[in-house]
Amino acid sequence: MKLIKTDHAYRVHIETFGCQMNEYDTELVRSLLTSRGFLFTEDREAADVILMNTCAVREHAHNRVYGHLADLKTIKRQRHLVVGVLGCMAQNLKEELAESEPIVDVLVGPDAYRRLPDLLADAIEAQEQGTARKGIAVDLSEYETYDDILPERTEGVNAWIAIMRGCDNFCTFCVVPYTRGRERSRDPHGILREAEHLASRGHKQVTLLGQNVNSYRFEDWDFARLIIAVAEVPGIERVRFTSPHPKDFPPALLEAVAGHPKVCKHIHLPLQAGNDRILDLMGRTYTRKEYLALVDDIRGRIPDIALTTDIICGFCSETDEEFRDTYRLVQDVGYHAAFIFKYSERKNTIAARKFPDDVPEAVKSDRVARLVELQRATSLTKNQAMVGRTVSVLVEGDAKKSSDQWMGKADNHIAVIWSKAGSRARVGDLVPIAVTHASVTALFGNEQPSGSSIDAGAD
Ligand code: SAM
Ligand code: SF4
Repeated sequence: MKLIKTDHAYRVHIETFGCQMNEYDTELVRSLLTSRGFLFTEDREAADVILMNTCAVREHAHNRVYGHLADLKTIKRQRHLVVGVLGCMAQNLKEELAESEPIVDVLVGPDAYRRLPDLLADAIEAQEQGTARKGIAVDLSEYETYDDILPERTEGVNAWIAIMRGCDNFCTFCVVPYTRGRERSRDPHGILREAEHLASRGHKQVTLLGQNVNSYRFEDWDFARLIIAVAEVPGIERVRFTSPHPKDFPPALLEAVAGHPKVCKHIHLPLQAGNDRILDLMGRTYTRKEYLALVDDIRGRIPDIALTTDIICGFCSETDEEFRDTYRLVQDVGYHAAFIFKYSERKNTIAARKFPDDVPEAVKSDRVARLVELQRATSLTKNQAMVGRTVSVLVEGDAKKSSDQWMGKADNHIAVIWSKAGSRARVGDLVPIAVTHASVTALFGNEQPSGSSIDAGAD
């Protein structure tokens, strides 16, 4: 193990791209580096080391990373600077980044973060000696879950807990199984210790994370048992989870969501497409009919549930008629919100190897625009249906547009905004808000005295 010189603590600036799992990994990296004497800085100009924790899932995040690398070239010409690329792009584009990006000194994939402190120490030493050394660690592991590392978190109401890593589903469009490796679940006792630690630090909400979070299994623990155990941790007021796969919703899990007051009544249920031929080409393992039956089952057991989804438009060979099946399904289900993406071919995936990316860009964009328009109208209707109700809101902080207003989330994950005037609320409190009006993305209302009764029902 290399020791970091104590006469000068090296300052690291880290930028995170992509999903919540990457945010969690950044917290792990902070913890690993802090324990080896590195300091962190928000100021890029003051940093000795700049790290980018990257995402390879869609083209957009990928392009942003290349944009940032171009900026760093200028800084690196002027002074000593070690540049590291971490995460999914490091894993998936190792050759490309190692060969064609001379400014990258360190490349570390999602299963190799333990090696990062040594690789950075080597790169810093080499640079101070006027030489260059590239440190690369991109081995995928069948076992690494970082179970013994307590992530270093920034303050906030919510904290992420990764309960599993990797994914075995190999949806044909998706790069995750190649960048994050095989699926492995963490020991539940480590997860519960982490939840207890979070509660003792004042976090009121935990969000359990996994690429396929509901296929969690460790010995005789399944996801339903785990989510209830986390909800029982004293001090934790709300438990959320993301992203589940529609194939793993046994009745016990739906009962856990329905029956435990601390498990939030919100399920993100990625659809991807509403046409059977496309679902089959995507390797999603369910049909339109099975997905709709699951939606009915969920709503039958949990009438106040809010459903959200992910959809990909313009997957290989998708026709207009097939897209219309997706459109109709989105219309029929009536999601509270949806993340709608253009298909982007990802290197190494099954689709990239087998199916031509043949839907023209303009057609993809048009389909995205049509679905976004539909979804905005549905979200507005769903939100307007909440007007007149009193909802319980977990206070997160100032509203984005004004520090005279609070912003928090209702149990069903919808943002709620209200005036601070006369408010007794503090960050982390659960407060009753009577909803007076609604927009596409938020509810607005008035704070009620604590103890006011809460109306059930998101719809
Ligand atoms: N595990 C989750 C599931 O089963 O749906 C999703 C995780 S994925 C990292 C997040 C979302 O990115 C997916 O639901 C999908 O809609 C989108 N996505 C993944 N690969 C994509 C691609 N090649 N092009 C466009 N969107 C993609
Ligand atoms: Fe990707 Fe499919 Fe795994 Fe989700 S379930 S991470 S979409 S391979």
